[in-house]
Amino acid sequence: MIQTDIIIIGAGPVGIFTVFEAGLLKLRCHLIDSLPQPGGQLTEIYPKKPIYDIPGYPTVDAGDLIDKLMAQSAPFKPGFTLGESAVKIDETEDNQFIVTTNKGTQHKAPIVMIAGGLGVFEPRKPPVENLENFEDKGVEYIIRDPKFYQDKKVVVAGGGDSALDWSIYLVENKIAKELTLVHRNSSFRGHLDSVQKVMDLADAGKIKLVTEAEVVTLGGNGKLNSVTIRHNTLGEQVAATDHFVPLFGLKPSLGPIADWGLEIEKSAIKVDTKDYSTNRKGIYAIGDVNTYEGKLKLILCGFHEGTIAVQSAFARIHPDKKNVLKYTTVNGVNGF
Ligand SMILES: Cc1cc2nc3c(=O)[nH]c(=O)nc-3n(C[C@H](O)[C@H](O)[C@H](O)COP(=O)(O)OP(=O)(O)OC[C@H]3O[C@@H](n4cnc5c(N)ncnc54)[C@H](O)[C@@H]3O)c2cc1C
Repeated sequence: MIQTDIIIIGAGPVGIFTVFEAGLLKLRCHLIDSLPQPGGQLTEIYPKKPIYDIPGYPTVDAGDLIDKLMAQSAPFKPGFTLGESAVKIDETEDNQFIVTTNKGTQHKAPIVMIAGGLGVFEPRKPPVENLENFEDKGVEYIIRDPKFYQDKKVVVAGGGDSALDWSIYLVENKIAKELTLVHRNSSFRGHLDSVQKVMDLADAGKIKLVTEAEVVTLGGNGKLNSVTIRHNTLGEQVAATDHFVPLFGLKPSLGPIADWGLEIEKSAIKVDTKDYSTNRKGIYAIGDVNTYEGKLKLILCGFHEGTIAVQSAFARIHPDKKNVLKYTTVNGVNGF
């Protein structure tokens, strides 16, 4: 059981910055995110896009902003449970919460902050008839640790950056023993540089490129050992493989958050703007996941909400202590 002061569900920009604000009050945080890396929408959807409305930065790329937020919160040594979704929040007799993930990891704290953004990102699954039979038995929708594919035969499907970049990475780093990239069309949606690199690797015989084709069925007995690829004109061919990795992007859905007894309005959690608390005492909702009159889904607004919410959390954890606001210039940033 992981014990902390504040469990933050969602390691997007708002969750990460809240670690810093909580740290200034000497409160420790542990973040849970269903994605394998921190950063929320910024890392997952638009890492290279410039953002122009972060105070003090006339322009900053989304991925760089996340790196800077991580560096800013680092002195407060946040814990991370990544690649796992929070599915359950139970209350204990000693007025604390236990948050359990889909993989069974448990976290205990007196405060829960939901910074879940648009919700859990779920993979877009291709229409392969027996796909779900092989999930985690050779089929993966996210590459969490490339070393998992060391010396394996891998079939990647997709035409966007994710499919192109992972195919290049697994080949250039001599990880996959054999890599096949299957794509429905003859042209790719990804970055031109990446498309060119895949073409070069295919010409060099390092990637088997199969375009205008789709994976239609999977084979194996309890564990994947082949895929059937149907080509638009050449018909079907069976290819031996250890892994099938369809990378068709991720779509957000509020997911388990909707089942936690919280007041939901327009797919978001209703909060009291006094401190961004929800209808369940001790549970707060900050960032894109909440709603109130005048709500703006902006990073800047989420930072403010997290800052206010940790003040309220402090009062709940330490009802006998008075917290006097001091500027960081006066107090410094004293990590744990
Ligand atoms: C293309 C695009 C451009 C944008 N440009 C700007 C801009 O220029 N300026 C600006 O201010 N805003 C911009 N935004 C909006 C901005 O990205 C959001 O306001 C911001 O990401 C909200 O941060 P967050 O931390 O609240 O949520 P998110 O970034 O959505 O992060 C939430 C995290 O919670 C996780 N999560 C959810 N549910 C669970 C669960 N049950 N268990 C575990 N993890 C969970 C998700 O996996 C996710 O990583 C843009 C958005 C998009 C899509």
